[in-house]
Amino acid sequence: VRVDSPQGRFAESAALLDRTRLEDATSSGKHLFVEFEGTRFVHVHLGLYGKFVVNRTPAPAPVGQVRLRLTGSAAYADLRGATACDLVTDAERTAILDRLGPDPLDPAADPDRAWQRVRRSRSPIGGMLMDQSVFAGVGNVYRAEVLFRHRLHPLRPGQSLRVGQFRALWEDLVVLLHEGVRTGRIETLRPEHTPEQSPATPAGTRNYVYRRTGLPCLVCGAKVRTEELAGRNLFWCPRCQPVFRSRAVR
Ligand SMILES: [Zn+2]
Repeated sequence: VRVDSPQGRFAESAALLDRTRLEDATSSGKHLFVEFEGTRFVHVHLGLYGKFVVNRTPAPAPVGQVRLRLTGSAAYADLRGATACDLVTDAERTAILDRLGPDPLDPAADPDRAWQRVRRSRSPIGGMLMDQSVFAGVGNVYRAEVLFRHRLHPLRPGQSLRVGQFRALWEDLVVLLHEGVRTGRIETLRPEHTPEQSPATPAGTRNYVYRRTGLPCLVCGAKVRTEELAGRNLFWCPRCQPVFRSRAVR
């Protein structure tokens, strides 16, 4: 492939990879590794605004800030706005992977690794779902939605969850994330709550609580609430997801 950095920020590394063979591309959590011959990897993390778009050739002149362009015989790919785009060695790739928790999209993932962290922690489950060393790949929409679907308050301490609740949460993440990959959209409503099936759900609604602050809960009608945790917004229904009170404390 031809490897190029029209914007210039990846130019030095691009020159090293240009006209070599692209061997593979794999993801783990939010990290993508594009492998080139000689066991060299381009590590990409899209962050909040990045896009890596693949189209058929011929490639037009690059538009905007294209950090990386890969051009093969049949297709080309443009990377824009990514948080990370670095040439890394196999050892550096392994070090990144070692810091990640299990990924619900990975059929070989071991959810027990996440459970062992959750069950020992006083941290809120809402925070742990976004901690990539506990669960790899879960973002803010899935966090809000999976907690709603399991009626768990986002600030509930990890150690207060029962193993059955954790397993159900994990299984649901597996289903929801695969569905997201398949459709390219984050749609988290159960069939009975979609706009087609429920008069309480306004047309175009795809999620229960994410970015629905102040609007009525699709299930119970209470107003959806929001609060910031570690710089990102939590969304939840105060009635469907009651505050957890430990029996032991009472
Ligand atoms: Zn509700």
